[in-house]
Amino acid sequence: MAHPTIFWFRRDLRLADNPALVEAVRRGDGDVVALFIIDDVFAAPAGYARVDFLRRTLESLDRSIDANLIVRAGDPTTVLAELAEEIGAHEVFATADFAPRGRERDDSARASLGARGIALRVLDSPYVVAPGSILNATLAPYRVFSAFRRAWEQVPREAPVPAPVGVRWRHSASTSLDELSARAATRRPWYFEGLPEATPRPTPAGEAAAHEAMATWAPHVESYGETRNAPGPDATSRLSPHLRFGALHPRQVLALLDGDSAGRRTFRSEIVWREFYADVMFHRPDSVREVIQPSLAGLRVDRDAAARERFAAWARGETGFPLVDAGMRQLLEEGWMHNRVRMVSASFLVKHLHLDWRWGARWFMWNLIDADVASNQHGWQWTAGTGTDAAPFHRIFNPTLQAERFDPEGVYVRRYVRELAEVPAPNCLRPGGGAGLFGAGYAAPMLDVDVERREALARFAEARAARANA
Ligand code: FAD
Repeated sequence: MAHPTIFWFRRDLRLADNPALVEAVRRGDGDVVALFIIDDVFAAPAGYARVDFLRRTLESLDRSIDANLIVRAGDPTTVLAELAEEIGAHEVFATADFAPRGRERDDSARASLGARGIALRVLDSPYVVAPGSILNATLAPYRVFSAFRRAWEQVPREAPVPAPVGVRWRHSASTSLDELSARAATRRPWYFEGLPEATPRPTPAGEAAAHEAMATWAPHVESYGETRNAPGPDATSRLSPHLRFGALHPRQVLALLDGDSAGRRTFRSEIVWREFYADVMFHRPDSVREVIQPSLAGLRVDRDAAARERFAAWARGETGFPLVDAGMRQLLEEGWMHNRVRMVSASFLVKHLHLDWRWGARWFMWNLIDADVASNQHGWQWTAGTGTDAAPFHRIFNPTLQAERFDPEGVYVRRYVRELAEVPAPNCLRPGGGAGLFGAGYAAPMLDVDVERREALARFAEARAARANA
């Protein structure tokens, strides 16, 4: 007779196209406990916005399985061992996690559950191609995106699998998701002190909402190639939070949005960036904290009280540079930011404010609803010029030129920087809001970009020289 199995939901909060869940159902002969564990290691460093989105995704999942989602809080190994004993399960199934802390957690749970006769079986991944499985001709990982993408395109893709049917979801004691909200956002770094945090209006969450968002956006994929860089029209898919929590799998996204038109190819390429960064993290788990380019490991950054003030102005969206401020305010308002503006505001922090990219990355991780350790840390390293395949350090975004190029009418800037709502372009795109407007309530520019650009290049040269002489 089959024993019930435990399905441990983590970054795959969906029923359709969930091969690990299908396997749990098969091995349990239909008898499955659906479990979510509130683990302080992951909850404490997550900000309000992401946890609220997660919570609503979990509530939706619970509704879709007739209120049978079991939520428990604590150390995963203990929770799993207790639940397995309670229901007589011998196997726990989960989708593989590739982030460093997730891997550590799974390794230790596997060892300790194994000693009690309970097997932890992880399969599939949150990616189309599992991180670590694409290697070059010398069996080394790819370091350059374009080469990785070409190899990725050659890997045969699995079709999405349907949701399992006839599942008998076992019920058991469950704690309220209030516990998740209570345990989250408790580990704020010191340099966040006194700063606001993103408290966005709730957007639809969960599997059905994700599919609806994808279907609604689908017709726009054809023009994605032309529109994706302009933050004003808000023309990207906004699927990132759903992909983050696995309400959607990228296989499902590509099943609908893939193809050979220019727009579809560009869109696929962005999905591959997500896969690439996960692959980089798989091979270099230290890259979530340490710079990848050794030549920039010693780059001098500021950490004194003045640096903390500069960080606060950046985080509040009060730098006086309209595109940067618009992005930082979008983040606080919506828990999300357009990709082009993520790049510009990240570059500003590193190359004009001379702060540690990890401070900025942490702020994004705290406030983004799509915060994902691989895409975020490597997006930051790319912008900071320290990543594998990074934009060269000396290519420094000028925030005003970026605004003039990608938001020429000031649609985006005026949407988020309300003091500039009535200021026509091009003035609304310029430092301080343009000539003669410094009295209009909008911040004066906090720095001179040319001066700070030179300072950044001097520090860059210094770091390289120190490395060469070491
Ligand atoms: P679309 O343009 O519609 O793209 C579709 C999907 O492709 C996205 O949902 C995402 O999964 C993937 N994608 C698109 N661009 C990228 C990219 N450059 N890198 C990796 N994946 C990409 N993305 C996150 O999901 N989480 C993060 O924490 C995150 N932090 C970032 C930090 C910085 C400094 C930068 C420069 C980028 C970051 N990105 C992050 C990547 C990108 O900004 C977002 O994925 C994108 O803006 C999400 O919006 P969308 O769903 O409308 O994207």
